[in-house]
Amino acid sequence: IFVANKLDPDGEIALDTAQAHYLLNVLRLSEGAEFLTFDGTSGEWRAKIVKARKSACTIRLTEKVREQTAPTGIHYAFAPLKQARLDYMVQKAVEMGASLLQPVITQHTAVPRLGADRMKANAIEAAEQCGVLTLPEIKAPVKFAAFLQAFDKDRALVFCDERAEVASPLDALAALSGRKVTALIGPEGGFSENERADLLSRSFVCPISLGPRIMRADTAAVAVLALLNVTVGDWR
Ligand code: SAM
Repeated sequence: IFVANKLDPDGEIALDTAQAHYLLNVLRLSEGAEFLTFDGTSGEWRAKIVKARKSACTIRLTEKVREQTAPTGIHYAFAPLKQARLDYMVQKAVEMGASLLQPVITQHTAVPRLGADRMKANAIEAAEQCGVLTLPEIKAPVKFAAFLQAFDKDRALVFCDERAEVASPLDALAALSGRKVTALIGPEGGFSENERADLLSRSFVCPISLGPRIMRADTAAVAVLALLNVTVGDWR
């Protein structure tokens, strides 16, 4: 269970109302109950509820269970999608080890605005489910041109291009072994011709095809992040 307050091994930690409600009323835990918790920076701890009131809860850490894991080098840049698909995509990106989520506003992006709190809530839920101890950094949306302009040239940008004529995506990814990689997925309407030409003109861009069928953006996200997770993912 993620706790927003910094975990202090030597003291009692008062949870915020939302967490107290979740522990006491949703999970129906009571005083003396133990659970595993993390705050995103201090590793994983076993904790015990030492005080439970109507909507107030204080815990104490009893045992360190896992050391903090370093964030992976895998970043995920994506054109925002409509809410349900975006929720799904954020959760899958966390499960696949993405340590940074960068929304990119492209010409055909059809989403008026992005709920950062909702993205964070989905990231926390996915981290709790899959045992990730570092929450991904969720960046503010940037426009496509600004994204490319500011891109860290030491990284490789894996451009998921349904029109790529790359012989073998696996060879292309194998050539990136040891590099920090950002995956880029377009909107449901795809990248515009100009955006695609701009991407293909950059030396740090590595276009890959994910196969002959056109996937929905959230499907393509799982496909490419699963590939990155088992090829360049620095968890081994
Ligand atoms: N332009 C597509 C069309 O003509 O229908 C639609 C884009 S697709 C729904 C959304 C995004 O998923 C694309 O921009 C691309 O990043 C990714 N994608 C989908 N299928 C892919 C494939 N086979 N290979 C690589 N990327 C793919």
